[in-house]
Amino acid sequence: MEIVVAALMACLLAGGVVWLMLRAPAEDEALASAITPSARELLSLSWEEFEALLREAFEREGFRVFERSQGTTGVAAGLADVVLERGGKRWFVSAKHWRERLVPGQAVQELYGAMVAGGASGGYVVTHGLYGPAAKVLAGERRVELIDGARLVKMIEPVREAPSDITRRRLDRARQAETTGRRQVPCPLCGRPMQRRLDRFGPRAGQSFFACSDNPRCKGTREIG
Ligand SMILES: [Zn+2]
Repeated sequence: MEIVVAALMACLLAGGVVWLMLRAPAEDEALASAITPSARELLSLSWEEFEALLREAFEREGFRVFERSQGTTGVAAGLADVVLERGGKRWFVSAKHWRERLVPGQAVQELYGAMVAGGASGGYVVTHGLYGPAAKVLAGERRVELIDGARLVKMIEPVREAPSDITRRRLDRARQAETTGRRQVPCPLCGRPMQRRLDRFGPRAGQSFFACSDNPRCKGTREIG
């Protein structure tokens, strides 16, 4: 009897493992096909190019766009990628998940924390991809608007076709940096340039690695080599 039960359990377990293995790629494919080619194409941009285009896209929606360090004070400034102002109110934009295909609820939660700390009336999260169910629920409760790939393309494409002089100069600078070989290693999470760091503690002490230049906000790292 015990053997039968054990055999049954083993079958169930094996079945579960096979189910998990089959399920993951299928979901991945569904996700990939839900992101339009024009949204996926945004990933060919560097962080600098993307940021320049995003700024003008928000300007065209009637916002004044500030650097992180302007328009707001204290630690909250470092939590938003872009700060917007309109009619005396302030919005924070979180763009650090722009390369992710499915943005988790945590992104909304983090932005909301920054909004509260920085006195912002609302916020935007942007991605070339999509939002998970938790992100959607939280956004509704937290005065956060979620801009997915399809909407992002509609915002950015007109800017790419006819950028303002300022944006054109920013784009030129970003591209020049690439062609003169100063192109740095991009962060796997947000696409910003990475910096060489030395591990001081732990089992890898003394070894170098790349860390995102937006560290500690962004946790992206890469091995060297
Ligand atoms: Zn990063």
